[in-house]
Amino acid sequence: MFQANQSSALYDRACKTLAQGVSSGLRRHVTPVPLYFDHANGPYYYDVDGHELIDYTLAWGPLILGSNHPTLNEAISKQLTKGYTYGAQHEAEINLCELLVEILPGVEQVILSNTGSEAAQAAVRIARATTGRDKVLRFTGHYHGWFNNILVAPNDQDPTSGQAASVCGGQPTTEFADTLILPWNDIAVVKKLFERYEGQIACVITEPLLANGGCCEPQDGYLQSLIDLCHKHGAISIFDEVITGFRLALGGAREYFQLNPDLTIYAKAIAGGFPMGAVAGRAEIFDCLRDGRTLHMGTYNGNCLSVAAATATIGVLRKLGTFERMHEYGRTLRSAIESAATRHKQQVITCGAGSVFSVHFGLDSTPQTFSATLKADKDTYLGFKSALLDHGIHTVHDGRWYISAVHSKKELEKTINAIDKSMAVI
Ligand code: PMP
Repeated sequence: MFQANQSSALYDRACKTLAQGVSSGLRRHVTPVPLYFDHANGPYYYDVDGHELIDYTLAWGPLILGSNHPTLNEAISKQLTKGYTYGAQHEAEINLCELLVEILPGVEQVILSNTGSEAAQAAVRIARATTGRDKVLRFTGHYHGWFNNILVAPNDQDPTSGQAASVCGGQPTTEFADTLILPWNDIAVVKKLFERYEGQIACVITEPLLANGGCCEPQDGYLQSLIDLCHKHGAISIFDEVITGFRLALGGAREYFQLNPDLTIYAKAIAGGFPMGAVAGRAEIFDCLRDGRTLHMGTYNGNCLSVAAATATIGVLRKLGTFERMHEYGRTLRSAIESAATRHKQQVITCGAGSVFSVHFGLDSTPQTFSATLKADKDTYLGFKSALLDHGIHTVHDGRWYISAVHSKKELEKTINAIDKSMAVI
């Protein structure tokens, strides 16, 4: 049984002064309690109760090089003595943008921000300013940050109407009056909505792999059809690559799926654990910023430390074989989970791509939409997750697994062993 007495005591203490006990809402409802960490090294987290845990959360994605990475540390240490942030220009930000343009297929220019939520807002604003239209189409189960205009749920009575509902309190309907939401992986409903709102839709935003909704993969041709429909109706296509960027491939989903949307947004893995967001696309799409039709600002945009971290992270990631190794690790883990499930008479399906995938109990076919993933047996997964923790394996509670470039054979063997033992006890 996993002992978390010190974490439990710290959580009780935190609740007295930190309003929800944790700093991001999703960290709250976890078992046994929100864990407190003392330090991290490579693919390992060390909690305050003395456990060494192989980490597959990667801080919800960013730690693509794990923790305490010597190249990242050196770049940050070097930058520390030269300045944290200038609120002004420096050559390193040009170097980073040149690097991004070199490695992201179809990208000519970028803008920098600090988080994925901000990058999504910037992309939507650019799309609206470029098209002179207001409506934004997004899909069920996807996540594009916590801001009111984008954090919406579908109308459960009529999910293909496009109509959006609030997700939580504090979301006036006026703030998402122009947000439309549809089921994903169904091009016919998108076509219909474009016809219904002819000339009104500014952009369509999608995760290219539904990482936030059970790692569903796009159906063959679906993403290209979305891009084509946008072009046909004068809308901007936006890929939210906050998870897939610098993870599915060095060039993210653009490279992995060989697609060229109008805009892509990045965050998380781009800077290996430091705050950075980016919006990327062809040069002409940023005309609206140059000619003053719209604005993009931010005190910390292009700050020295995040720029140093991103440049160093990409430098390590671009070494030959990095993504092949991560993909191979992912494939091996997935097949270990599936074969352990068969051995222990559990019905399990894994889906995803490369170094991010989800594990679904109780499904008999690969889910293609978020609503299909909701039929999975979450309680059994939580039992599995909790058994894994007993064996020193730390995972996200929603069934997602993230693999870094520093997970090695040693961690893989230990994890496969833990998977078998955990599957046996649920
Ligand atoms: N888009 C996607 C696809 C994400 O997964 C996230 C974060 N989970 C965001 C946007 C928002 O990023 P951030 O938390 O950095 O604001």
